[in-house]
Amino acid sequence: MAAKHTRKLSRPKKPAEFYVLVLEQDVAFAQSLKFDLERRLPVKVVTVHSLSATRLLLKRNPHQFFLSISAVAKDFKQIDLLKSFNIPVIAVIDQYEDALRDQLIKKNVLDYVVKTTSADTTYVCDLVARAFKNKTIKVLVIDDSKVSQFVIARELALQKFQVMQVDNGVGAAGILEKHADIKLILVDYHMKLIDGISFVKQIRAHYPKDRMLIIGMSTSTDPRLAVKFLKAGANDFIHKPFNFEMMLCRINQNLDMLDAVEYAKQLSNVDYLSNVFNRRYFFEQGNQIVRDLKKGDVLTVVMIDIDYFKIINDVYGHDVGDEVIKDIATALKQYFSEDIVARMGGEEFAVMSTSPQYLTSYERIKRFREKIANQVLTIKGNTIQYSCSMGVSSYVGKSLDGMLVQADRLLYLAKQNGRNRVEGEPIGSTD
Ligand code: GH3
Ligand code: MG
Ligand code: MG
Repeated sequence: MAAKHTRKLSRPKKPAEFYVLVLEQDVAFAQSLKFDLERRLPVKVVTVHSLSATRLLLKRNPHQFFLSISAVAKDFKQIDLLKSFNIPVIAVIDQYEDALRDQLIKKNVLDYVVKTTSADTTYVCDLVARAFKNKTIKVLVIDDSKVSQFVIARELALQKFQVMQVDNGVGAAGILEKHADIKLILVDYHMKLIDGISFVKQIRAHYPKDRMLIIGMSTSTDPRLAVKFLKAGANDFIHKPFNFEMMLCRINQNLDMLDAVEYAKQLSNVDYLSNVFNRRYFFEQGNQIVRDLKKGDVLTVVMIDIDYFKIINDVYGHDVGDEVIKDIATALKQYFSEDIVARMGGEEFAVMSTSPQYLTSYERIKRFREKIANQVLTIKGNTIQYSCSMGVSSYVGKSLDGMLVQADRLLYLAKQNGRNRVEGEPIGSTD
């Protein structure tokens, strides 16, 4: 049950600070980059305008920088300097030329970008954002050729991915058991023990396409192989030996697609106004949690309804009413941060918790009511206080529907007994 229960929306944590070095003579461009990057990402940007200043800075702080963005001179001195300190480089060039591109790829830059104007930083910002995201993404490379394994892993590490590597499918299955959050697998076809296509078939049963990307690879010239990989459940196929720039484009495109699916899923689970889960998600997750309950587990459902909300709407207007709904949703999400919080409709919310503390005491829930009743809000110039009533039901061997009916009945009782109250008694120890 614990695993299901952790499926919450991610909440922003206090970000760690990462430093990005911008080496660029065009001061206007450097400044726009600094402004845009710091606004978009939890990074600090240090700008330098000459090679000598960069050398001094790096001697003083050799391990400070996560990555760098650098203009390129004909002699590539900037890139060589940054590389000598093991800092990945995004190269900024004024004009695209095939020969220059080839040289940059040889220099192992993270990527290169053509500067259009000093004001347009979008593409560079996107690249940094991608590298930033990559450092949270686990990738597994499965290839029986050590050389190929090593080269692919090195390229991926350059892009800041967390890379794992193994030379056969059986070992890969073991790694997957330990790291179920691996997001991308690159798998070769010809391997000992199990071939790439059989491997894909096996693991697809447990890891769906919208959660894990698999890219098949092979040196074989048989065009049917790509089809076989795709039909077995791979998201894509790349022919070896490949151009790494092309491989990265494919990987990024697939990751973008995964992000889009993730975003769509999030939208379908979250209430647009209050930003907590919606009723549909509450039932979907709730029923799963009930199914996974083991003997002795506690499940507690709290129904929460704002008191006299109609009056708030009537007196202050609907938009102030909306702000009050957002306020209680935010408060619930923060207070019950380990639990599932959902808006069930209108000004009614529900919380589902598996915390064992509610087996014997509802004190903590009662303190939430108190917290809401005691706060004074200023919304659009109005001073507003509101309260809520709550009905609480703990697991008594019923279905989720049964628990909700009971919590709802207790909520109704709280309203009848004067509002701004909590009704319900914990069931005590089951030992
Ligand atoms: P009680 O103390 O018995 O709960 O009284 P109440 O006025 O809070 O409850 P009632 O159910 O009579 O009124 C709820 C109101 O909430 C009616 C509806 O117009 C309003 N409402 C529902 N959804 C929204 C919304 O999204 N925004 C705003 N501003 N109001 C909403
Ligand atoms: Mg109400
Ligand atoms: Mg209501």
